[in-house]
Amino acid sequence: MGGLFDFIRILINISLLWVGFFFLVKLLILIFPRLLEYINRYQIIISLFQISIRTTKLNGPIQRLSIKFQRLWQYWFNVGMVVSLLTLPISIGLFVYNLGILVVKPQNIEPIINPIVPGVNVQGQDSWYLFISLLISMFYHELGHALCIYSFNSRINDIGFFMTFIIPGAHVDIHRDVLYRLDLWDRLKVFCAGVWHNLALCIMALLLMNANFIILSPLYHFSSDKLYITHISDHSILQKSFNIGDQIVSINQCTPTNIQQYIECIESEIKNPKSYCLSESNIQCLNDQIINDSPHMRQCFDYNELLKYQQCTSSQNGTSSNGQCASGSRCIQFAKFNYHLFIINATEQNPSKYGTELIPFVGTAQELWDSFTLNNYKARLTWMSHWDIPRHLQSFYQYLIPISLGLAVFNVVSIYALDGEYILETLLYIFASKQGGKQSQFTPKITRIQKIILNTTLVLLLLNILISYYQLFAK
Ligand SMILES: [Zn+2]
Repeated sequence: MGGLFDFIRILINISLLWVGFFFLVKLLILIFPRLLEYINRYQIIISLFQISIRTTKLNGPIQRLSIKFQRLWQYWFNVGMVVSLLTLPISIGLFVYNLGILVVKPQNIEPIINPIVPGVNVQGQDSWYLFISLLISMFYHELGHALCIYSFNSRINDIGFFMTFIIPGAHVDIHRDVLYRLDLWDRLKVFCAGVWHNLALCIMALLLMNANFIILSPLYHFSSDKLYITHISDHSILQKSFNIGDQIVSINQCTPTNIQQYIECIESEIKNPKSYCLSESNIQCLNDQIINDSPHMRQCFDYNELLKYQQCTSSQNGTSSNGQCASGSRCIQFAKFNYHLFIINATEQNPSKYGTELIPFVGTAQELWDSFTLNNYKARLTWMSHWDIPRHLQSFYQYLIPISLGLAVFNVVSIYALDGEYILETLLYIFASKQGGKQSQFTPKITRIQKIILNTTLVLLLLNILISYYQLFAK
């Protein structure tokens, strides 16, 4: 349950920050009463755990953009409505399928919908990718609604941005009368526009992610078969052995050309751990460390000797003395104490001392993985190599795509207060009008159908969320 405590700790910290911020603002208003004028003039509302701002300043630009390409937008949102309506059954199927996996827990099949919990499965720098992705996805979603309604020569009231606790968001305010004056199909397009924009953003991000090497080509040289170090962890024992920009040629005779192969190289060492001849004093030191459960096992190895360690074959239990090793030493499988010896062949990229060297690393596979990050990009300008833009961009897309897709999926299904509720309502109006009923009211039968669909979806959603969070925290 460690994750739950981390999560609660983060919630408490954020709550304290909010309380501090709230009282600071109140205090500043007391000292500088004019501050309140500014806050009111810009329609900023600050309450405990929420800050929001409303603006009409974007109405003009959005309206101009919508009117300028009006026909184009109408085609765009026609396609959007069709795609969104196709996404609806897929999304419901996804929730049902996901619930099935959560309940049955089949081997080797992971749930598709994963809860995002800052501090548990999103940490450090990733929180920023998450925050920015949410902000962009939500703004682009709302822009969809706004552009669509303007393309039907109608209007919005204003656009609001808010941050509730740690979740950023945006919403367009459309007057109900304005919406309900629209033709049913046009109204449906407005409701579907947000979902469509999220799906379009996903496709765009996917394309951009795959075109990264072209987009970044003015700044970075991309080679499909060379892996470069782009970041070195401050905590790594290899910090002084490498420089950013060094090329990793091989690792234990395995030659990776991309990240996937690099992972496979490490995995192959874990699956087939090698054994080396160690002196009795080495072995004694290691055994003492194991008995004392000490984390300083690395000091048992002589760093200068690591490259000279003789490889041998040991039996299953990790030790053997089959005469392969010189007298005074024994064949020991490093994996016995969770360690591996990785010999890294790296090429220095600095032109003044260009050369290849062998660097030994003894430790756990995880320690090696955490030591540095690699990718196929090399900065064209040396002073830029520390920025590691390709990694940040890649990580950003890896958040933006699932978040935007998630917003589309959650908004298209019939959940109370989200777009899905209004999409369902409009679809039922269209159905009712086809049956010869009035546009403005439902028969009791249709009202019942609407309630059943909304409540069923709510139960389906709640079960997915509750079981997902329970399983995440119970890990
Ligand atoms: Zn929406």
